[in-house]
Amino acid sequence: MRPLIAGNWKMHGLAASSAALARALRAGAGEVGCDLLVCPPFTQIGAVAALLAGSPVAVGGQDCHREREGAHTGDISAAMLRDAGAGFVILGHSERRADHGETNETVRGKVVAAQQAGLVPIVCVGETEAQRLAGQDTEIVGWQLHSSLPPEFGGIIAYEPVWAIGTGRTPGAAEVMAMHGFIRRELQRGFGAVGAGMRILYGGSVKPANAAALLHLPEVGGALVGGASLNAGDFLAIARAAALPNMAAGG
Ligand code: PEP
Repeated sequence: MRPLIAGNWKMHGLAASSAALARALRAGAGEVGCDLLVCPPFTQIGAVAALLAGSPVAVGGQDCHREREGAHTGDISAAMLRDAGAGFVILGHSERRADHGETNETVRGKVVAAQQAGLVPIVCVGETEAQRLAGQDTEIVGWQLHSSLPPEFGGIIAYEPVWAIGTGRTPGAAEVMAMHGFIRRELQRGFGAVGAGMRILYGGSVKPANAAALLHLPEVGGALVGGASLNAGDFLAIARAAALPNMAAGG
């Protein structure tokens, strides 16, 4: 399976800057050899999806509500994301867990809603630095997986150590391999053959300079990229670095 490089634009992007970024990605996306996804803020999803229609770059949301519609002021449903042109949605990002008190149970409800609306959920898991230092990293990630994923899960996992997000720090190769191997075993245990084929993305300070070292590790199926996804050149450089072995093998 080709790597997936997903960009999380977070709360960045007005109409002009989002359109410029989308146009630059469209222009450069053809030769990268990866699947590409961008997740703009809600207000830009429709416009970005229109600019990227027919290109190799898919569009996603950064969150959705668990209900299809109703009295939930300020919220956006999965059906609304789909209607605006999204095919994916990031769920349970650590910033939403921290800023909005989202629990694993909240995330699980959103995953069900996303799948019912025809979106592919990207479920984020990851330990804090204190939890890693206490040797609780796999315990925490295992608990997040078991509690956030519904029995009929068919999406993507993003392993994002909280301490690596936006800090310029990344885990070492051995740490990434250990955690991705653990997540793969848990997915296989929970979902059998389907779990064996699920993509597991790495996220946390992925940049052009470290992309090749992080993204060619076993069980790393791509990246969820925050800061570097706001620069088309950096985002496409990460995608090219992720794709290199496949290209060399002619795949
Ligand atoms: C993220 O927030 O999902 C992320 C990976 O951010 P950054 O790449 O900026 O660390």
